[in-house]
Amino acid sequence: MANRAFPLAKTRNIGIMAHIDAGKTTLTERILFYTGRNYKIGDTHEGTATMDWMEQEQERGITITSAATTCQWNGNRINIIDTPGHVDFTVEVERSLRVLDGAVCVFCAKGGVEPQSETVWRQADNYNVPRMAFVNKMDIMGANFYNVLQMMVDRLGCTPVAVTLPIGAESDFVGIIDLMKMKALIYEDDLGKEIDEEDIPAEYLDKAEEYRAKMIEAICETDEELMEKFFAEEEITEEELKAALRKACINCELVPVFCGSAYRNKGVQKLLDGVIEYMPAPIDIPAIKGIDPETDEEVERHSSDEEPFSALAFKIMNDPFVGKLAFFRVYSGTLDAGSYVYNSTKGKKERVGRILQMHANHREEIDKVYSGDIAAAVGFKLTTTGDTICDEDHEVILESMVFPEPVISVAIEPKTKAGRDKMGIALAKLAEEDPTFKTYTDSETGDTIISGMGELHLEIIVDRLLREFKVEANVGAPQVAYKETFRKAVDVEGKFVRQSGGKGQYGHCKVKFAPIPTDAEHNYEFINSTVGGSIPKEYIPA
Ligand code: GDP
Repeated sequence: MANRAFPLAKTRNIGIMAHIDAGKTTLTERILFYTGRNYKIGDTHEGTATMDWMEQEQERGITITSAATTCQWNGNRINIIDTPGHVDFTVEVERSLRVLDGAVCVFCAKGGVEPQSETVWRQADNYNVPRMAFVNKMDIMGANFYNVLQMMVDRLGCTPVAVTLPIGAESDFVGIIDLMKMKALIYEDDLGKEIDEEDIPAEYLDKAEEYRAKMIEAICETDEELMEKFFAEEEITEEELKAALRKACINCELVPVFCGSAYRNKGVQKLLDGVIEYMPAPIDIPAIKGIDPETDEEVERHSSDEEPFSALAFKIMNDPFVGKLAFFRVYSGTLDAGSYVYNSTKGKKERVGRILQMHANHREEIDKVYSGDIAAAVGFKLTTTGDTICDEDHEVILESMVFPEPVISVAIEPKTKAGRDKMGIALAKLAEEDPTFKTYTDSETGDTIISGMGELHLEIIVDRLLREFKVEANVGAPQVAYKETFRKAVDVEGKFVRQSGGKGQYGHCKVKFAPIPTDAEHNYEFINSTVGGSIPKEYIPA
């Protein structure tokens, strides 16, 4: 039996999703502060934020990478998978949603549910991701917790259940009411570490009772036994309520809602308690499905160390210190550093060098990863985002991630002749990290074309060329690409695996050159290319 530091039941893999500026970075940083792994709190805009790795992220104030950070709370391990807030990077959101088990959605107490939050929410709906919400910025002018609750109903069509209420708002925001305990938590110091548990102030008692009743009713509606007790007016304990809310949250029936101010260090610990109480552990989620590439039969892998090893690579980063880092989520089995795995997507063996786990301000080298873990491997040569890695004797290709095709293209050329080779290498590296970024040579003009998900996406690529690879480039006028006209085809030892449009679907096509079908509805075409490539002119729909 494997020896693991954290039982699966005490592991949480969560993402923090938010509309840009809602406070995701600040909240993440506070979480790392309270979980004891971060040494100082810095305003995100002073450039000390832990999760914003890249310079330009800080300049632009957006998070575009999707790193995973490990922390501990009350004897539990929480892996935080970073999800970006900007819609141009929805693919980053998409791939993190694929590997996390639950998400905390951050809303601004003033702006509430913004269009971008809706987009991300829908993506989470598609992946059946259990969610809880944190209404942040309770300290700002115009903050209105109840308004945000209503917006969640109106715009997201979900059933929010407030489990905390704010005490005061704007500059008078002083603490929160815990509706489970019916106690007030008043923050006494600036760092939010001294918290007094008090009786609910008289002027808030009516509101607290009203919302506790709403909470109990919503929870009981999801649980027959509790419903009977409710109608019989029997006492329902805090434990019973929490257990039922946990179940309803994991089934995506209810969304527990917390509130606070990350910036003012209020409400964060209660949210962390909520993550443990309501977010699923890896064992609470259904087995992941895949196919056996030999037999084409469907197989399932459960969160258990006893099953054969299976994992999904969800993020490739080129790290200045250790080189290529492949973040992966283990679904089943265990993996030792220094051993071999089978990349079933590519049909090749890979050696895992070191395995690293990322903490807020240090990297920990670990000997072994277990089912449910998230870690980064050093030493993979051919593994790219979305690949399945598994036990060689128990092959499986897990449900693949769906990456949208780029929608916008520009021609790009280095400003100097010397930059030409460097640019080629740099673009290839960037394409390796980002499955929605493509680069190819236009067969007619000989121009190097880069394509991505939006103008900002390409701007960032050009920026990274300059910063990370010292290649200055001229960029042509953007062309909106032939959206939806081609799908990625990946060569797996003579087989082409198609990624089609639906959720987690894959198709097989065992011929080397698939015909380009005239499927007018979808315009799906197989193309003779490993990744991307330009579409033959005659196949471009008029
Ligand atoms: P992100 O884009 O979601 O990562 O948002 P950030 O964490 O970068 O926050 C955006 C801005 O809002 C920054 O200037 C933060 O300092 C500020 N901010 C974040 N949380 C709060 C809060 O609770 N109260 C106030 N007043 N400002 C906040």
